[in-house]
Amino acid sequence: MAANGSPELLIVMGAHATPEQVDDVVARLAEAGAHAHVTAGKEATVIGAIGERELLATLPLEGFPGVEQVLPILKPYKLVSREIAPDPTVIDVRGRRIGDGYFGLVAGPCTVEYREQTLETARAVKEAGATMLRGGVFKPRTSPYTFQGLGVDGLRILEEARDETGLPLVTELMDPRHVEAVVETADVIQIGARNMQNFILLSEVGKAGKPVLLKRGPSATVEELLMAAEYVVKEGNARVILCERGIRTFERSTRYTLDIGAIPVLKQETHLPVIVDPSHAAGRRDLVPALARAAVAAGADGIIVEAHPAPDEALCDGPQLIPTAEFAAFAEEIRSLVTLMGKEIG
Ligand code: PEP
Ligand code: MN
Repeated sequence: MAANGSPELLIVMGAHATPEQVDDVVARLAEAGAHAHVTAGKEATVIGAIGERELLATLPLEGFPGVEQVLPILKPYKLVSREIAPDPTVIDVRGRRIGDGYFGLVAGPCTVEYREQTLETARAVKEAGATMLRGGVFKPRTSPYTFQGLGVDGLRILEEARDETGLPLVTELMDPRHVEAVVETADVIQIGARNMQNFILLSEVGKAGKPVLLKRGPSATVEELLMAAEYVVKEGNARVILCERGIRTFERSTRYTLDIGAIPVLKQETHLPVIVDPSHAAGRRDLVPALARAAVAAGADGIIVEAHPAPDEALCDGPQLIPTAEFAAFAEEIRSLVTLMGKEIG
């Protein structure tokens, strides 16, 4: 539900509150011109009250039957905060899950280059146990003279790969003009690091009926990432997966600096799943397995990794691509660590 005003208060219902009591609180908020964001948790239902702070302050919410306590939401991010939904969000994409004990293993080419390259990669990662297929058709390239992606034609290749392997598709949307085409084909819409604060694009995907993979900008703080996710959820799309993909620091031995600390911080601050992209962080394939292992150990809900049948011939990100021939061994190692962490591949 899209709402005006910001979620200011958290109404925690008692463990024995009845559905009628919850409905009553929602109705009283509506009467007063406010909105309710209801989350049924395992322990209790919490209601986020959305509206003007002054108006909400006039309501005797604490006295309503079934209400246990009323708390202000102090963080600038509201709908994505842990407070509003104490249970972790699990995102189901065509039966594959990410979050709360389900680990997403997303893999595939950086870029859809041609049919055989994409299909071969899809088959290899599927065989190795990947849960989703990644692949960009609209590419954010630093140089305007390099391959920019196949565009809509690439979406047809991805569809073929999905038909054959059954893997849900993760693909990047860069431009509001492509929303319709990408949303129709993608199972998860990727918003790339460079677009993390493209607020128009965020609002557009907030209205789409597909989950969103939101990558952290290379110079964005954790709080800015959460505020970007808030733009999507505010429009009514609560299925957002956050992705740490490395930030820009003074260090040059890796392409970016993987901010491992961001994983436990995000897990504390939000109910949304958090995954890691070790490929773009490392920029070198020899470092990708170590960064991926670190991500699992730090509590990530998944990883998104780039693979290619012949990395030396790749049109984009060659040095960081894992050869498909080596992908099964890599996935096996990740799987053991995931089990050690008490999780399962989703
Ligand atoms: C990608 O996933 O191919 C990509 C371009 O990633 P990022 O937006 O994190 O740079
Ligand atoms: Mn890439």
